[in-house]
Amino acid sequence: MSENATTNREPETQIVHSHRISCDGGAGGHPKVFMDMGQADMAECKYCGKKFVFKA
Ligand SMILES: [Zn+2]
Repeated sequence: MSENATTNREPETQIVHSHRISCDGGAGGHPKVFMDMGQADMAECKYCGKKFVFKA
């Protein structure tokens, strides 16, 4: 009987106050990328799936 360590985590959601954001996926994530969500109020990092929600 082996214990299966699950390492998959739900993608984070971060509240941001700017349409321009950056994400590096956290520790050991991915190279830092900058994104501009434009007219939208939500963006998703294409590398780690982290969601950014704009709040004025
Ligand atoms: Zn990311």
